[in-house]
Amino acid sequence: MPFRSIHGAEFAVDTPADVAALVDMLGPAATNQRLRDALCDVFAYVAGVHLDWFLPHQERVVLELLDGFGVTFDTRCTLLHGAPDTCVEHLARRVRDRWSEDHLESLAAIGTAPALAAVADLVRGHDGKHELEDAGFWVPPAGPAQQRFSSHLLAVERRPVADLAELLAVDHPVGLPLDRVLREPAATPVEWHFLSLRAAALPGVPEWPAERMHLLGAGGWEVAGSVGEDGRWYDVISEHRAPAEEPWNGNDDPDSWGAVVLRPYDDTLVYSNSHIHSTPDVFGTVGGPPIGVYSNPSCRSCGRLMFHVATLTNQIREYADGFCSLYICEDCHVTACTAPNWN
Ligand SMILES: [Zn+2]
Repeated sequence: MPFRSIHGAEFAVDTPADVAALVDMLGPAATNQRLRDALCDVFAYVAGVHLDWFLPHQERVVLELLDGFGVTFDTRCTLLHGAPDTCVEHLARRVRDRWSEDHLESLAAIGTAPALAAVADLVRGHDGKHELEDAGFWVPPAGPAQQRFSSHLLAVERRPVADLAELLAVDHPVGLPLDRVLREPAATPVEWHFLSLRAAALPGVPEWPAERMHLLGAGGWEVAGSVGEDGRWYDVISEHRAPAEEPWNGNDDPDSWGAVVLRPYDDTLVYSNSHIHSTPDVFGTVGGPPIGVYSNPSCRSCGRLMFHVATLTNQIREYADGFCSLYICEDCHVTACTAPNWN
């Protein structure tokens, strides 16, 4: 069945030769915005479903066709991941010759040791600003850049639970009582539990001292807490807190309880507009770079860019409006959540 882009165009994506033909279209796409937009959409599908068919083309895309390759950054991270060193050298030279945030991000997306070393050299030799941190890459004072997210993507699907006993037993609960996730609920600004994720079920995410990590909401858009072996947050601080309106106490409503199942990226998901959120009951992704809507938090203890674990839409459990993200510092055992204000 052809893939239909939200821009109307249809593309066959049934064989490796079909993907080779899509790569050929990147040439004319360099000067054709409509084609570029349509290809952006179909390459997100290729990244999710037929990555193996794209990998033989990595070198040609980077060396010859990058100007037509207008895919989103998360798609780029999947398609260019592990690209050969010829691609690293090519991109590093282009950025050195003329600073380009776009090419720098493509270089980071490759994610190999030579690519991350080149990114760090370029950034430390550059006077002006860069936006790599919002793309999920950290450049420390010395040494290579660090990718602060997992390359292994999993779709977050929500299912109902029958009762509190089931809610408390599932791997990834939605809507836990706050005393399960906070040591002193009454003393914190946290008023909402979006989701907890069982750390051992998250490929590529650093070791965590507790069984689960929690995505919480505090009315404002960033809240952080420290975590010990019991997993419950303490020393909770909310930044950018919205002016207090009525206190929100709907967290214990059984109608909003649920459980999350983590699904692989494959052809059972709906790919549209370069994301998977059109899939019924799917509300976001574990893994991948942060989506760049907000500034990514740095760890309040050590200053390192925090590791992005997941980004969900607020519809995972209706609260506020927009996207919410979960971050950790695996060294300091600090969690941070960004979530939008009520609008
Ligand atoms: Zn830290």
